[in-house]
Amino acid sequence: MSAVLEFARQELNDYCARIFGEKHGCSIRFEVENKDNTHFFKDGYSIEIHGGKGRIAANNERSVLLGVYKTLQQIGCRFIRPGKSGEKIPRLSVQDFNVSYTFRPANDHRGISIEGAVSEEDLAQLIDWMPKAGLNSYFIQFRNGYEFFERWYTHPNNPLLPAQPFGWDWAQEINDRIVSELKKRGMVVHAVGHGWTCECLGISSTGWQKRTEVPASLRPYLAQVGGERKFFKDVPLNTNLCYSRADVREKLVSEVVRYAKEHPEIDVLHFWLADDFNNVCECENCRKVSVSDLYVRMLNDIDARLTEEGLPTKIVFLIYFDLYWPPQTEKIRNPDRFVMMFAPIFRSYTQSYGDGDVKVPNELPAYVRNKNEYPHDVGMYLAFLRRWKECFSGDCFDFDYHLMWDIYRDLSGLKLSEVLGRDIACFSRLGLNGLISCQVQRAFYPSPLAMHVLADSLSRPIEDLPAYLDAFFADTYGRHAALAREIFERVKEKVPFEYFREQIPLGDEKVLEGFRETVAYLRKTQETLRAALEKEEEAYLREGLEQLLFYTQTLVLLLPCCIAKGEKRPQSEVQQLYAQLQTYVNENELRMRGVLDAFYFHFIVNGFLEKGEMVNYGGI
Ligand SMILES: [Zn+2]
Repeated sequence: MSAVLEFARQELNDYCARIFGEKHGCSIRFEVENKDNTHFFKDGYSIEIHGGKGRIAANNERSVLLGVYKTLQQIGCRFIRPGKSGEKIPRLSVQDFNVSYTFRPANDHRGISIEGAVSEEDLAQLIDWMPKAGLNSYFIQFRNGYEFFERWYTHPNNPLLPAQPFGWDWAQEINDRIVSELKKRGMVVHAVGHGWTCECLGISSTGWQKRTEVPASLRPYLAQVGGERKFFKDVPLNTNLCYSRADVREKLVSEVVRYAKEHPEIDVLHFWLADDFNNVCECENCRKVSVSDLYVRMLNDIDARLTEEGLPTKIVFLIYFDLYWPPQTEKIRNPDRFVMMFAPIFRSYTQSYGDGDVKVPNELPAYVRNKNEYPHDVGMYLAFLRRWKECFSGDCFDFDYHLMWDIYRDLSGLKLSEVLGRDIACFSRLGLNGLISCQVQRAFYPSPLAMHVLADSLSRPIEDLPAYLDAFFADTYGRHAALAREIFERVKEKVPFEYFREQIPLGDEKVLEGFRETVAYLRKTQETLRAALEKEEEAYLREGLEQLLFYTQTLVLLLPCCIAKGEKRPQSEVQQLYAQLQTYVNENELRMRGVLDAFYFHFIVNGFLEKGEMVNYGGI
């Protein structure tokens, strides 16, 4: 039996033992319909079980595992958060083990990309949770995700946790173990993204680390910006090359092909140009051709070389900044090799692709080399997507950032979850076949709602949101559902997402009054939560209540900072209040490590309180 089927069998047995007792007597066959792996990206399964006997038939091995978890959900299991304390497992009699369920997901690409700060343990728990929620893909950015792990292990924002001496080898070991966790589950492994531009010159680009000195021999290959060829703002990862040079393109193409060959474990290799924007080459030759045309030339060369080598690796190309404007003359020759990835990084997250007032203009804005201003309204991004879809008919998915920065701007999480669900619901109309969510890895704060909306909508768009929310609160908070819902609804109303997206003026008196009321309300509600926690015996509900208490306390400490900021009180006073919040979050960081990315929470909150800017486009 393959490793994936063996793991699926072990999972089914373990859960059956917990649900029906050790001698459960269940007998469920696994059938994989496409053993030649031609359906690797196409999930689907059908489950027929009566009295604990039957079969799970699936398109591929991963879908058997997805089918196992769906079977468990059909009999009442809930995978609310990563880890055993996030699971609700019923006790049943095997006679009641009856499931008849057929499934084809609405989207093939259902995944998460590494971002934020994360430890190996927390990432392994997330990956364990993903197929339980129906997700199938994971993307480790750059060569091994070094930057994201380093942010956790060195704890730069938390003096209470000692920094560990983190290094490249450690990152590589974590990467390898994470890949084997993904392979064990048959998940689609995505890798790399940015970094090729300097890696192909022998300069490590494992994150946004700075480097000032440029080796003289490499200087001619770098993009000329403002008359100089150097690392863009001293960051190799953000540095483009002089792509009109055939030798530069050859270096990039060879590096991608070499890497694909050396890494057969990567199913989908992302070939992106530099990060950041307004940083492309301004030399005489580069000016004559659009960046997209030069990019497509390289894509075609990569495809030809991979074909020669007999490598099946899929290549993702990225629609981002200069590349929002499609090519004028070049065309992708072998669409089957590629997946187009649309990344509208500066878009608004208070507006959804599905909103009635979204206008998609016919004309694209004029391209002005290195002087482009990128819009925030989603309509313009849909216009870019539409133009690209006229040039490329192959597979395509969204790479979006709902849960990266705005997860700490929409403090109830309700509005953002709704936008996320509505976005995914119109994917089929937009020609998008899924989402890789570029987000913090620990995104179960303020509640697990957004993560469930992400996973569930990608499998099947949510049609009845009120009914979905009823089920979510009932599953997550059990007998405390009404109280939990009241808290989040209240925060949604009184602490508007729009205020933290700068759509309501800073210091708006009505908003500040709402903040004051909310602090009083939350303090009072905490007494009810504490009383409920004292009596609660079920582990997953205790966990939910403890997280609610933590969440309400973060708001009790954060809102006074926002009030002081809004009232334009001295910055020292704002910072004094913020220090209390920071200390509280730091003290609880380990306890809440699977739920909240404190590194990013501080980054966003401090950006607002210190600099007065809640929206920091581009972020870090
Ligand atoms: Zn150039």
